[in-house]
Amino acid sequence: MKEKVFFLGKWQQGEEYFDIKSPYDLKTLWEFPFLSSEDVQKAIDFLEKNKKIMKDMSRHKRAQILENARNILEKRKEEVAKTISLECGKTIKEAKTEVERGIDTLTYSFIETKSYKEEVVPLDSSKYGEGKMGFYIREPLGVVATITPFNFPLNLALHKIAPSVGVGNCIVFKPASYTARTGKLLVEILLEAGYPPECIAFLTGSGSVVGESIVQNDYVKAVSFTGSLEIGERISRIAKMKRITLELGSNSACVVFKDSEWEKYLERMVRGAYALAGQVCISIQRIYVEKEIYDEFSQRYLEKVKTLKVGDPLSEETDVGPMIDEANAIRAENWLKESEEKGAEILPEIKREGTILYPCIVKNASEDTKVCKKEAFAPLVVINPFEKDNEVIEKVNNSIYGLQCGVFTKDIKRAFRFAKEIEVGGVIINDIPSYRVDLMPYGGVKGSGIGREGPHFTFDELSEIKLIVFNLS
Ligand code: NAP
Repeated sequence: MKEKVFFLGKWQQGEEYFDIKSPYDLKTLWEFPFLSSEDVQKAIDFLEKNKKIMKDMSRHKRAQILENARNILEKRKEEVAKTISLECGKTIKEAKTEVERGIDTLTYSFIETKSYKEEVVPLDSSKYGEGKMGFYIREPLGVVATITPFNFPLNLALHKIAPSVGVGNCIVFKPASYTARTGKLLVEILLEAGYPPECIAFLTGSGSVVGESIVQNDYVKAVSFTGSLEIGERISRIAKMKRITLELGSNSACVVFKDSEWEKYLERMVRGAYALAGQVCISIQRIYVEKEIYDEFSQRYLEKVKTLKVGDPLSEETDVGPMIDEANAIRAENWLKESEEKGAEILPEIKREGTILYPCIVKNASEDTKVCKKEAFAPLVVINPFEKDNEVIEKVNNSIYGLQCGVFTKDIKRAFRFAKEIEVGGVIINDIPSYRVDLMPYGGVKGSGIGREGPHFTFDELSEIKLIVFNLS
C-alpha cells in the first residue's frame, strides 16, 4: 500500500517509493515516498513562513493539543502498538509498553507546558542594577528537526515532538526508514489533536538525502537526533550554527558484587539484555561479576536465557523477536565468532536463522573484542569476572560510550564511589542500566551524546530564553 508524506500543509504522494518490510517474515508491509532535497527545501521554506502561528499560540492552547494527542493515542493504542511490532520487529508486549510510555511522555510534556517558569531577575541585587527591573521569558526556536531511529519509533519521536509543541516550535520530522508508518500515525494524531498543519512536515526518504538536507538547512534552528554514533558525528560536523542534541549508542555495563541481592534481580538483568533482541540503546551488553559468584551467576543467568521464547513478534508468548535486518544479524553473529576465536565461551550456542539471532551469553570475552568494545545492538551479553573495585571501574570506563550503568551492591560507600567515578549520564544503583522513566534527565557522555532528554530538560534544549530589562530610573 502506498503511503503519504505531509508537507505544505497537506498529505502528499511521492514520485518514487521505498518498501518497508517486516523484519520477521520479510513481507512488504507498505511503501513510503522517497523525497528529494528539493522537497525538503520547499517543506522547510513553508514552515519558516508559518512559524509565527506557533509562536503566537497561547500556552493553554499548546497544552490543549498535547492533552488531546494523549487522549487520541490512548484510543488508538492497539493500532499503534501493532504497527510498531510489525515494522520494527519488537514483540507486541514491548510495543504496548512503548505506547504506554508515549502516553507518559505526552502527559509530562503537557504538565511542563502548563508550568514552566518565566521569572523575574532581581537586577538591583547588584549595584549596577539599581533602578532596573528585569525578567525573562521563554521563546520557541522556530523550525526544529526531529530525526529518529527505528527502535522506539513512537516514544523517541515524542520526546522531541511533544516538548516542541509545548514551547511553540514548528516541526520537521524525519523518521527512520524502517519505521516510517509509526511516524505517520503520530503525525495523524497531532493534526487531529489541533496542531496547525502549516507548522509540521513529515518527510520520508534516505537519511543521507532527506536527513542531511534537513540538518544543513539554515532555517532549521535545532537538530534533535537519536541514532548511531556514526550519524551523530556526521550531524555535528555538518549542522553549522545550530543547537544539537545527540542521543546516541552505548555498550552499557552492569557491575554485580557478591554482597548484593543479585538473585532477586536476575530476571531483570535478562530482560535488560534481550528486550527488543538487544536493540535498545541502554541494553545490558557487559555484565562484570565479582569472581567469587561468577560461576554460579553465569550458570543461573544462562538457565533463564534458555527459557526465553524466540519467534513471531506478534505473538503474546514471544520474548525475543527478529533483529531489524539480516545484515545486522550477520554482523552480530560474526562478532560472536570473533570473540570465540579469541577464547570466549558462547552459551548455549551461536545460532542464527535469517534475521533471528538466538539469545546467548559470552563468557570470559577478551576486552579487546568487538562484543566488548563496540555497540553490539543484538541479543547477546558478555559476562566477565572481576576481583577489585578499581579494576572494574577501569573496565566499565574503558569505552568510547557512556550512557548508563547499573551497580548491584549493598555497600553504600561503594555505591557512592561508583556513582561518582563511572563516566556515564546515569548510574542506577541496584537496578539495570536499561532503567528509564520518561521524566528523568536522560542522555550520555563521550560517544553516547550531547544534551539531555525528558520533557523538562528538552524544553531547555528546544527553546530560547529572552531577557527583558526595564530602566525605571
Ligand atoms: P541510525 O542509522 O543512526 O539512523 C537514525 C536516523 O538518522 C534515521 O532516521 C536515519 O534515516 C537518519 N540518518 C541516516 N543518515 C543520516 C544522515 N547522514 N544525516 C541525517 N540523518 C541521517 O540509527 P538506527 O539504526 O535507526 O538506530 C540505532 C541507533 O540508535 C543505535 O546506535 C542506538 O543505540 C541509538 N539509539 C540511541 C538512543 C538514545 O536515547 N541514546 C535511543 C535509541 C536508539 P534512515 O533510516 O533513512 O537511514
